[in-house]
Amino acid sequence: MSALAAILRARIAAAGPMPLDAYMAECLMHPAHGYYSTRDPFGAAGDFVTAPEISQMFGELLGLSLAQAWADQGAPAPFTLAELGPGRGTLMADLWRAVRVVPGFREAARMVLVETSPALRAVQARTLAAAGAAPQWAAEAAALPEGPLFAIANEFFDALPIRQFRRGPAGWHEVQVGLEDGALAFGLSPPGPCPDPRFAADPEGSVVEIAPAAAPVIEALAARIARHGGAALVIDYGGWRSRGDTLQALRGHRPEHPLAHPGEADLTAHVDFEALARAAPALAARGPVAQGLLLTRLGIAARAARLEQGLAGAQRESHRAALARLTAPEEMGSLFRAMALHPPAAPPPPGFG
Ligand code: SAH
Repeated sequence: MSALAAILRARIAAAGPMPLDAYMAECLMHPAHGYYSTRDPFGAAGDFVTAPEISQMFGELLGLSLAQAWADQGAPAPFTLAELGPGRGTLMADLWRAVRVVPGFREAARMVLVETSPALRAVQARTLAAAGAAPQWAAEAAALPEGPLFAIANEFFDALPIRQFRRGPAGWHEVQVGLEDGALAFGLSPPGPCPDPRFAADPEGSVVEIAPAAAPVIEALAARIARHGGAALVIDYGGWRSRGDTLQALRGHRPEHPLAHPGEADLTAHVDFEALARAAPALAARGPVAQGLLLTRLGIAARAARLEQGLAGAQRESHRAALARLTAPEEMGSLFRAMALHPPAAPPPPGFG
């Protein structure tokens, strides 16, 4: 049994079942035993692979879209260039190299990485130093500086804890983590009111999810963008309004039961883009557009061809495979989607028009 499993069992035995978001928060961010607090989970040796780790093209093209949005808004200087949940820092490093071609962008940018994990902050520091950048860190979006803000978040919102509800004959039951014969087990709360008016007409048997931490993050970004200009690009898997049980656990690239190894598996849920857009009523929301379509609009075919010129043999094959993984509908191309938030008076970032 993991150390965290023992801690959670003792707590539940003493205080009763905990809602799913409290369980997820402990699993992902417990200071000593949390999944992200303690490790670098990315890549072939880790538990999952993300788009920036597949190819530099991802960070380059999204970075150029963000930089064009900055230029379209009059190139405000200085401004905050932020990433939420930067992982290894790969996306930001690729962005930083690509935006050299945008006059004034790097000089005006103050880079801030929103990251809670000390282990990943250390990895990000190394990656960004190698790319010639000097980032600062913030623990949460609310701590970002006041001023124009151009921000990006890839696979960040799927890591935020969710609450899950099931509609029964007498009302909505919240999914809880409790104990059964001494082991962690899912249970249901007594029936209560509908957790979100959007789901009021859903029939009995429906499962819905809400991520209570997501709206405050968007509100923090939107407040700065609405006041001072800017844009936020959010890329993740999910859809417009979340339906069904989307909680999943991945360990060593394999799905497993979310209660099997607390703190040792990545726990995620689909992102509800409608909930994000609703948290920013003062901004225009574009998309979500499928990742494959977005990257195609941003010119990934030409960029891939250019990069391929220097490659041969196995390197060329893996470059072609990376292109397919990012864009093909049966791979990441349609499951992953991107949404842009920007001031209504400003043009949408390239790819989102
Ligand atoms: N964007 C990266 C990593 C995605 S994994 C990539 O595409 O490869 C999720 C990232 O979000 C990790 O860096 C994790 O430590 C961070 N994270 C998760 N929850 C967070 C929170 N509540 N606040 C800040 N960072 C968080």
